[in-house]
Amino acid sequence: MDRPQPALERARTKTVATVGPASIDPETLAGLVALGVDVFRVNMAHGSRGQHEQAVAAIREVSRQYDRPIGILVDLAGPKIRLGQLYEEPLRCEHGAMLDFVPGDIPEAPDQLISSYAPLIRELSEGDQVVLADGTVSLTVEQSGRDRVRCRVVQPGILRSRQGINLPGVKLSVDAMTDADRANAEWAARNEIDFIGLSFVRKASDIQDLKEQIDRFGSKAKVIAKIEKQEALDNLEAIIQTTDGVMVARGDLGVETDVAQVPMAQKRIIGMCNRLGRPVIVATQMLDSMQHTRHPTRAEVTDVANAIIDGADACMLSGETAIGEYPCEAVAMMNRVMTATEATLRDSTSQTPTAAPIIGVHPITSAVVYGAGQIAECLSAKLVVIATRSGATALAKSTQRDFIPTIAVSDEATTLRQMALLWGIIPVNGAPALSGPPLREFVDVWGHADGSLSPSDRIVLVTGSGINPGVHNQVLVHEAGSSVKNE
Ligand code: PEP
Repeated sequence: MDRPQPALERARTKTVATVGPASIDPETLAGLVALGVDVFRVNMAHGSRGQHEQAVAAIREVSRQYDRPIGILVDLAGPKIRLGQLYEEPLRCEHGAMLDFVPGDIPEAPDQLISSYAPLIRELSEGDQVVLADGTVSLTVEQSGRDRVRCRVVQPGILRSRQGINLPGVKLSVDAMTDADRANAEWAARNEIDFIGLSFVRKASDIQDLKEQIDRFGSKAKVIAKIEKQEALDNLEAIIQTTDGVMVARGDLGVETDVAQVPMAQKRIIGMCNRLGRPVIVATQMLDSMQHTRHPTRAEVTDVANAIIDGADACMLSGETAIGEYPCEAVAMMNRVMTATEATLRDSTSQTPTAAPIIGVHPITSAVVYGAGQIAECLSAKLVVIATRSGATALAKSTQRDFIPTIAVSDEATTLRQMALLWGIIPVNGAPALSGPPLREFVDVWGHADGSLSPSDRIVLVTGSGINPGVHNQVLVHEAGSSVKNE
């Protein structure tokens, strides 16, 4: 097993890595954790239930080995519309050629297309744009009828069976969750998964619907809204207020909207998440070339750095760790860029902490966390310790975006794993209590074992007095090593 870095040397920005054939074996998973993965994504668009179960068990085993809370994000595929079987494989689409969407399961001529979404023919109108195969082929609807929709190829290319269909700007009546999504959400809820990602979110009620479904199974999973449609951008504030976290899903976003709009959409989404206190993941193609080469392009490295500067809580790897040839190198590179970028950000004074209200966090908690940060700055404290049951106090601390090293302890295992996604928060297992002398003693022992605290280093603890349940109203300054002699 690789020796993990001391906790306080890890990047503040978190790394989400997608598990797949390239990373599922226990040794690689362990290596990825040692190199900086905080949350693993299990993508339900690929693989079988058995493979997903295997991935979850393997991640939990690695988390146990390292005694480190690692989050698991189950990403529901959502109502992705796909081409059915083509008449011939592949289908070459020439510029100006006509193709027809027809009902049924089997095309009867090379120019006929079938979709996995039966009402498509009814819901397309003249002038609509149909984008196929990740944006490589585009059609325009010229004629819509009861049993066929005639489309002209405006961007030529090659199609294969079951490639994706995107319909930028078309409002579909399709449900936010398919039957498969509902079954997978139930599986995730029953298996104590930490985060559930919902693809193709359009409005806040899509999130509410998923929350209600998983609540029925007593799940505490946080819902991550994947922003990848224009409708989601149109309803962004309401979605962010309803969800627990957000993913800038740039793959589909770059097809559902003009790809040229993606950079500014990313900045807008991150800015709003930062303002409203919701963790945000930037996803897709961050180090894409590392699927096949050991070294990223300059543009990819700059993309990771820019996401951090924009204010992302986490950056995500997809194909790089799921099917790539160099999963460990990709995680190591991502963490190198994070650490280098953060070193510069730390020296700039552009981000000023505030006690702005956050939905789900008591204003007393926000104010106390803000005050704790100020005290830690004044005293050049080496560590802030957040004791939290729900993780809300850690969320408040994370939104401060200060660089004071912060660990968070909890008596809830799910909360510990969920805090793995929060910028600058290091969840630590094993605290015997959330306040009082046992917590101080635990922090002393932990700091010594981690190698990050020396005797007399100042530590600022944020806890609750218990007088006002659910509210953190106490700040205590402690000197490392003094817990035994002072009690
Ligand atoms: C994306 O579209 O960028 C994304 C992360 O979603 P998926 O990988 O499920 O397509």
